[in-house]
Order: sequence, then structure tokens, then C-alpha cells
Amino acid sequence: MTVHFPFQNSYSALPDSFFARVAPTPVAAPRLIKLNRPLAVQLGLDPDLLETPEGAEILAGKTVPDGADPIAMAYAGHQFGQFVPQLGDGRAILLGEVIDKDGVRRDIQLKGSGPTPFSRRGDGRAALGPVLREYIVSEAMHALGIPTTRSLAAVVTGEHVIRETALPGAVLTRVASSHIRVGTFQFFAVRRDTDAIRRLADHVIARHYPELSGTERPYHALLAGVVARQAELVARWLLVGFIHGVMNTDNSSISGETIDYGPCAFMDAYNPAQVFSSIDEMGRYAYANQPRIALWNLTRLAECLLPLFGEEQDKAVEQAQEILGAFPETFSKAYQAGLRKKVGLFTERDGDEALIQDLLDAMAKNQADFTLTFRRLGDAAGDPAADDARAEFMDPAAFDEWARRWRERLAAEPQSAAERQTAMNAVNPIFIPRNHRVEAVIQAAVNNDDYAPFEELVKVLARPYADQPDYAAYADPPLPDQRVLQTFCGT
Ligand code: AMP
Ligand code: MG
Repeated sequence: MTVHFPFQNSYSALPDSFFARVAPTPVAAPRLIKLNRPLAVQLGLDPDLLETPEGAEILAGKTVPDGADPIAMAYAGHQFGQFVPQLGDGRAILLGEVIDKDGVRRDIQLKGSGPTPFSRRGDGRAALGPVLREYIVSEAMHALGIPTTRSLAAVVTGEHVIRETALPGAVLTRVASSHIRVGTFQFFAVRRDTDAIRRLADHVIARHYPELSGTERPYHALLAGVVARQAELVARWLLVGFIHGVMNTDNSSISGETIDYGPCAFMDAYNPAQVFSSIDEMGRYAYANQPRIALWNLTRLAECLLPLFGEEQDKAVEQAQEILGAFPETFSKAYQAGLRKKVGLFTERDGDEALIQDLLDAMAKNQADFTLTFRRLGDAAGDPAADDARAEFMDPAAFDEWARRWRERLAAEPQSAAERQTAMNAVNPIFIPRNHRVEAVIQAAVNNDDYAPFEELVKVLARPYADQPDYAAYADPPLPDQRVLQTFCGT
């Protein structure tokens, strides 16, 4: 039996300027570290066959499966605000697309599979640490219910990659509803290739926004659609304490999925100015800055689409501004609705926003753990005697004062305590990929070839909203000496 991928490729049928045809570079001794079996089944792949040596060779890029049409996609991008007219997949190769069990077209891409014409001076490879980080965090995001690319597999290559030191090399198999980015549009816009922009926009509409095709102003509607999805996505990030870390336009997906897990991390103590990325010295991509940056990225997308908006560019600019103008309200609506749920409110009243902001302010002032404060608030809603939430505050009295007002507000709603706690536990995770846990798992794998900690962490994070008493320690924030202050991009 050989592994069969039911490829139905569409991107590689677009014009040649969209990509470079290139095969993965074979590696010495591929070994499968992890296969995401449920995802394999969802994609119509046989997980047992993927776990054979032949499967590992495919997932490492050593063997190209039948029906694949391997390409590196072209894109440009603003990196930390600086425009780079050509980036592209420098270490990723799209094998092809399959239609999953729900009828959704999904890219299957190898990340770390060798050089491409877009590699510039890079080696086209990935180190094990960042591959495990992407696997853990992307799958955790999925379990949290947040749109994201997925991880199908991780393999070690049996080769070393040279970074500051020699590190084990690895390949991640990434699955996405597409890998089309704001930067993909920028690639053609900077070349003034309006035909290509139109082709790309039509492809995106057919693939991600099919309800818009045949409407009167499909390209305006496309921009509005991406604006809405990005606004909702970033709201979801903030509601779980996620910091992407490198929101460059090339890491900003047109489908509205979280993509490109580099120096990303979840914050422990609530701090709106939190940054983890070692390369983000200015705090451009700090936690609370993410909505503003998403809008900045969308404004770059709008600029690319202007030629499709009509002959009169003044009018086109006005129209684009109006569409972008919807971002703050869409974001704020999603964020505020999410916060109301997090504090257990079923209804909306004047004063709610201020009440919740006062909690966040007290959390920031008192270095309260973001995840545990909300989870413990659910306990407090279920049982007025449960007072673990206050222990998250350096000055517990700050919580008590707030909780009095909160309980008054809850009393205006008819739901029972148990009902409220259930609702809150469904939106306030207890388990997030704590950065110190992710780092510990990476150290065990890289230094000792020990994947048991990785397996266990992935298992716990697959059920982030469930109390898992056997794994209670995974909910704990880091001790002072376990705190991870910086996360490296690790490319
Ligand atoms: P990233 O920071 O991962 O979003 O990557 C930014 C750009 O650098 C993309 O064009 C990547 O393909 C490229 N890149 C990152 N690491 C490497 C590498 N090791 N070899 C070649 N290209 C790379
Ligand atoms: Mg990237």
C-alpha cells in the first residue's frame, strides 16, 4: 500500500508569476515525531499509512506523493513596517490541496523542506524548537475555537540546521484553508500587475468568500469580508491573551486564520503592553496594539485593491476608507461581547463596559494572571464562597471591591449560579500553552530526544475548557524563576 493524497490543486493552475515550481530537498533520516491522526482523517488521508516509513518520507519532503504539484508561493510584505517587495515561501513548499470531509479546500504545506527561489540567504530549513512551538500553539488555538492553520505532522530530518548553534532540523506539515496573505496582493500591487491582482481576488472570492461572487461590487465586498474576519480574529486573540508577535502583512491571512507562529506566546499576568518577541524592540506587536496593527495591515490590502474599485481613484480611495472604517466597530463589538461572556453576563446594559474595564485595570495593576482570573471568576459565580479569584491580585481588596459591583450586576439576571458557571467555563479556558511549559517541552525534545512532555502537553491542550484534575499543574502560571521573558523567532 502506498500513501494516497486526494489532491485537487487549484493554486498551481494560476499564472506562472504566482509561484515557483520547486520540489522539496530530500533529507537524511526522517523520523515521524507526531502525526495528528484526527486531522489526517478529516483530510481524507490514512493515518496508519502516514505512520509508515514511506509516510514519514513524504512528511519530511524526501518523497513527493502522487498528484502533488509542489510550489513555493510568491508574496511581498511589510516587516515591522518596512516594505519588502519580494519575500515568498523561502522554506515552505505547498504540496497541493485536498477537499476535506466538510467540503473545505485545504492546503497541505511542508515548512522547513529546503531552499526555494525565494530563500534569499536562508537555508530553507526549520529547527525542531520552532516546529514544536507551532505544532503546540496552533493546535491549542484550534481547540480554543479560534480560526487557525493546523498542524498535521512534525518530523525530524536527521540533519542539523545551523543557527546560533547546531540544532536538530525538523519539518512541520501545515494545513490551511489557504496560504494567501495580504502580502500576496502586495507582491502584484508593487509590480502594478492589475490583471494578476484581479486573478488573485477572483481566486480568493471563489475559495473563501463564495457568497460574494456575482454580486455587484465583489472586490469592495471582498475587502469588507477580510476586514470583518480580521477584526473578529484579533478580538478572539485578545480574549484568550494571545500575542502573535510578528503581525507583518506577509503573516496576515486573507482567510482570517491565525498564521505563522513565530515568537508567539500567551501572556500570564495581564499586561496590555506585553511583548515576548526578541525582535519586537519597539512593542509594535504588543498585546493591546494588535487591533491597530490589523487595521494597518488591512489598509495595505485596501491599497492593493484600489485598481479593482474603478477608474476614478479618488472615489476608490473614499470607498476603501469607508470599508476600513467598519473595523473599529466590528472589533469592538466582538471584543466587548466576548468580555461580557467572560464575566458571565447574559445581557447587555449601560455600564457593563466600564465595569469590565475596571476589572481589567485592576488585573493589570495587581499582576493578576489573565487566564486564571477569569476561570476563578467562573468558580466565584458558581459558588459565592469560592474566593480563589481574589488570590490572583497582589491586593486582594481590589478584587473584593470590584466583585461587590459585579455581584450586584449579576443579580439583575435570572440565570442560576450553576448555569452561569457552565457558560463561563465554556469561554474561559483553564489550560493555555503557557510559555514556560512550551519551552520545557522544547528543551526535553532538543536536548534529550524526549517527546513524552510534548505528547502530554498536546493532550492537555486539546481540551482547554475541561477541568482535568490529573493535569492541574498545567494550569499554573510560571514561578518567578520559570518565567520566559523573550521568545525567539528561531528561523
Ligand atoms: P517568517 O518570519 O517566518 O514569517 O518569514 C519571513 C520570510 O523569511 C519568509 O519569506 C520566509 O520564507 C523567509 N524565511 C524565514 N526563515 C527562512 C529560512 N531558514 N530559509 C529561507 N527563508 C526563510
Ligand atoms: Mg511568514
